[in-house]
Amino acid sequence: MAYAYDDQNIFAKILRGEIPNDTVYENGQALAFRDISPAAPTHVLVIPKGPYVSMDHFTQEASEEELVGFMRAIGEVCRLEGISDEGFRAISNTGHNGVQEVPHLHVHIIGGRPLGRMLMKPA
Ligand code: AMP
Repeated sequence: MAYAYDDQNIFAKILRGEIPNDTVYENGQALAFRDISPAAPTHVLVIPKGPYVSMDHFTQEASEEELVGFMRAIGEVCRLEGISDEGFRAISNTGHNGVQEVPHLHVHIIGGRPLGRMLMKPA
């Protein structure tokens, strides 16, 4: 699949500094900031700095440096937030079935309380 990146999405605006964010961590390849509508005591979004729509797009087209920097950022955020030992969930909603709202790759890092089972089975 070929991806077209919409540079007017809200995370692109955050990366350009047009919209404020509550930064938790940053490296050369990734930015991590608090979700505006947290689902748990810790809810941080980690995004690559490059223009990637989704995990599929990123894992096809990102450089090794981008891939490594992004994954390292996820680990750093968990350690900084103090959730590495007790556990957390890392979620990347992708596309229509994944109910992705913002078309810039992001991983939700959620923790700080027991999170229950990952998915509800359909009724
Ligand atoms: P998703 O449904 O996986 O695309 O998640 C998008 C997430 O972005 C949601 O959890 C929103 O609460 C979050 N969000 C939207 N706008 C902002 C913003 N300006 N700053 C921080 N988080 C945001």
